[in-house]
Amino acid sequence: MKIVGVDIGGTNIKSALVVNGRVKGLKVIPTYSNRGPEGSIAQIIKAIEPLIKEGEGIGIGIAGLIDSKLGVVRTSPNLKGWNGIPLVKILTRKFRMPVKIINDVDAICLGEWYYGVARGYKNVFLFTIGTGVGGAAICEGKLVLGANGYAGELGHTIINFNGPKCACGNYGCLERYVGARYIVRYARRLIKKRASRLSRYKELSPAIIAQEAKRGDTVAKQVFARVGFYLGIGITNIIALFDPDLIVISGGISRAGRVLFTPIRKTVQQRLLGEKFRHYKIVASSLGDEAGILGASLLFNKKVCPA
Ligand SMILES: [Zn+2]
Repeated sequence: MKIVGVDIGGTNIKSALVVNGRVKGLKVIPTYSNRGPEGSIAQIIKAIEPLIKEGEGIGIGIAGLIDSKLGVVRTSPNLKGWNGIPLVKILTRKFRMPVKIINDVDAICLGEWYYGVARGYKNVFLFTIGTGVGGAAICEGKLVLGANGYAGELGHTIINFNGPKCACGNYGCLERYVGARYIVRYARRLIKKRASRLSRYKELSPAIIAQEAKRGDTVAKQVFARVGFYLGIGITNIIALFDPDLIVISGGISRAGRVLFTPIRKTVQQRLLGEKFRHYKIVASSLGDEAGILGASLLFNKKVCPA
């Protein structure tokens, strides 16, 4: 089947035609999440339209709590105003072809599991770290959706109940410590007090901070030591819960390499119950930006996706 795969995040919409696991005609356009659902839906249509001629179905991964069965976006912390939006109905009417939706991180997880670094593993937990922090689990060879389809919301597990306020309204969520904007905010706070190469940049991003950490900047290294520590705590909790054999970290930050993975592994080694008796690996994702699109296209593959 030729499927139009779409990956909708808080910042960008990526779309492409997926034919036999190959991505063709990749497009990236802004989500304009500040324009509300109407503005973003106009962008989604714009992302799909040029690919529709050849497509036989539309598979979508979208950030938020997604009811895959009803095709409804219940709510989404990074897409303002998206409450109970019947996206499948809207797009089926517009394009007159089958449309399926799933949480964006579930889609990325399916992509990495079927085509990427998690291929062949039976128990996998995947983290995505970007504007938001998400998670998805494959348990005993099956994607875990949960009773409502909302399983894996790792970014909003509470790791500090007296912690600072998160974008979701709660306090001390994991996302509040390792989400892209908070990584940058922490770096800004440090460079006010200490000399760092990071002060040369007008705009900071986790990618820039990672690059300077690799070059040996002590402030940038401290930022990543902290991110790695908090992620290590999140991963420790996940391993204690699911006992996966593979933990995959995806999103731009996963390319940071040792500056990120060393503090993560150290924290897990120190904190995980029965660490020395467990076989597990913590690795970076391998498909990059295409994972979500590939995974969304798998929504039409009944062997892979239960939704
Ligand atoms: Zn939260």
